[in-house]
Amino acid sequence: MWSAIVVLSLVGCAVAGPPVTRSRKDIEGFRAYLERSRTDDGLRLESRMLVSPKASAWENSGKFQGDILLNDEQADLLMQEYAGVGGRNAYIWPNTKWPSNTIVYDFNNEFTTAQINAIYAAMREITARTCIRFRRRTASDRNYVLVTGRSDGCYANVGYWASMGVHTLNLARAIPGQGCFTHTIIIHEWIHVIGFMHMHSTHNRDTYVRLLWQNMIPGMEYAFERYGTNVVHNMGLPYEYASNMHYDRFGFSRNGQPTMLPIFNDNNQMGQLQFVTGWDWLRVNRHYNCPGAWSTPINAEELSQGTYLHEYKGDEDAALEDQPQGVVVEDLPQEVLVADMPQDLEAEKVSVVEN
Ligand SMILES: [Zn+2]
Repeated sequence: MWSAIVVLSLVGCAVAGPPVTRSRKDIEGFRAYLERSRTDDGLRLESRMLVSPKASAWENSGKFQGDILLNDEQADLLMQEYAGVGGRNAYIWPNTKWPSNTIVYDFNNEFTTAQINAIYAAMREITARTCIRFRRRTASDRNYVLVTGRSDGCYANVGYWASMGVHTLNLARAIPGQGCFTHTIIIHEWIHVIGFMHMHSTHNRDTYVRLLWQNMIPGMEYAFERYGTNVVHNMGLPYEYASNMHYDRFGFSRNGQPTMLPIFNDNNQMGQLQFVTGWDWLRVNRHYNCPGAWSTPINAEELSQGTYLHEYKGDEDAALEDQPQGVVVEDLPQEVLVADMPQDLEAEKVSVVEN
């Protein structure tokens, strides 16, 4: 079974609501679901898309809740959360923020130039909208995200885990704009790496969405589990159907019928893949205490429409002052020439063509 829990730091918040009682059958079912999500089933993303064509690529990626790659510590914690060991408030979720707001990354040497550029485009948007920064891995970095291109789906580890070493962000190779290489899906996976789980698994989601259990693939009901604010926190913002981190209507459907419906008008934007919302960015900025993020006013009327595109206007210079001395936060390449792609991890220089 999984390793003992290593608690990194104490940042858990108390969970509202009474303890939940689970049957032994439910607990064993959840354990089996977790184990399945951590086992390679050998299926390619295309095969799963054929079975469930209305769901998004990330929902069809065979991991926990579709696209979350759990490490041992997280699996232990989620099992405790589910089983309500010692009451729902007894365990703590560690701080998984990337140190100095900086994600250290590297690529496997398996993407085309166009794919690399699509990944960089998502990373550039993150740096433009938040105080998150990226730095290419150097030989001395032990903890970093390796961007890989395995064919089984789009998925990522959630947050930073000092004990884990290599974190994964996987994007099944595709033409940019398609499958896992959809711009908003690449950002979705990075937002997992930044530390977020899915919007619809937050504590108050039952006020906003109705689950249609009878339409779900048997055994996948556990993907719709609801979590306390210690696991899925909304950062003081209202529930948002249009969030980049929300399921669509057809995740894990066994019959092509919806598995989740909005209770209020979602303007048909629940689970949309067209854009990342201003609140998605604001949640990231608040999670990392980016300058101005907690004082940014929220327009409730626009918010209620779920389409409010907030331009982050925090003071980026102030954010950079938080960087420790000696850390170089580089500008991301605008475009990469294939001839200049690093051939191995030792080759650090990437040629940049300025537009
Ligand atoms: Zn996801």
